[in-house]
Amino acid sequence: TVTPSLLSLVESTAETRLVGDDAQLAATLANSARHGLPPISITPLHGQHLSLLAQLVSARAVLEVGTLGGYSAQWFARAGARVTSIEVDARHRDVALENLRAAGVDGAEVVLGDALDVLPRLAAEGRVFDLVFVDADWGLQADYFDWAVRLTRRGGAIYVDNAVQSMVEDGEDGVTREGSLVARVGRDERVRAALVPTVSVRKWDCESEFVDGFLLAVVL
Ligand code: SAM
Repeated sequence: TVTPSLLSLVESTAETRLVGDDAQLAATLANSARHGLPPISITPLHGQHLSLLAQLVSARAVLEVGTLGGYSAQWFARAGARVTSIEVDARHRDVALENLRAAGVDGAEVVLGDALDVLPRLAAEGRVFDLVFVDADWGLQADYFDWAVRLTRRGGAIYVDNAVQSMVEDGEDGVTREGSLVARVGRDERVRAALVPTVSVRKWDCESEFVDGFLLAVVL
């Protein structure tokens, strides 16, 4: 049986063996905490996972919705991509820029604004990305996804984090309603998608299992 303590051991061992210590990333988290940002960035293993995904699609340009302190942005930069990240909170944006500068990430662009204002603007500018990472307001994931499809090249990928948590927030109704994330993505003929449930005890320092999942789509 996979108990919470065994799962914790698996996760910490995998983190040590597959990712290892990283002073720069640790400094980003420490500086974000010092500035009072909430500890809700992705985990190191999740960062590695996203970085590998960026490599798999040969991502040169990555768009991120939800910057926080620029932690996930650094993982994309490590895959060799130029990151454009959207953040609604000016304090988060400032800390992210500070962290990215300290990490030596060149060329990252943090756009201040509400994602639903910025995404149409990027589309109007003709911007195209290889990978879009959606990690902001749960209630608007399906709207972000719709813009992400327009902003992603054919064969590029869209990754929506917290897809399970956002759908179960309103109980059964939230899962089964026609406007749910999977219902909308399922009707979208521009993409092929899967939802992958996940479980972690390391995520957001929770004591017990945190059940969640991500939605991954490829633009056809
Ligand atoms: N991707 C980050 C990481 O792993 O390092 C974590 C992002 S955090 C979970 C979500 C961020 O989205 C917060 O910084 C929040 O201020 C931002 N956000 C929330 N609603 C937003 C919106 N409507 N437009 C842009 N950013 C938003």
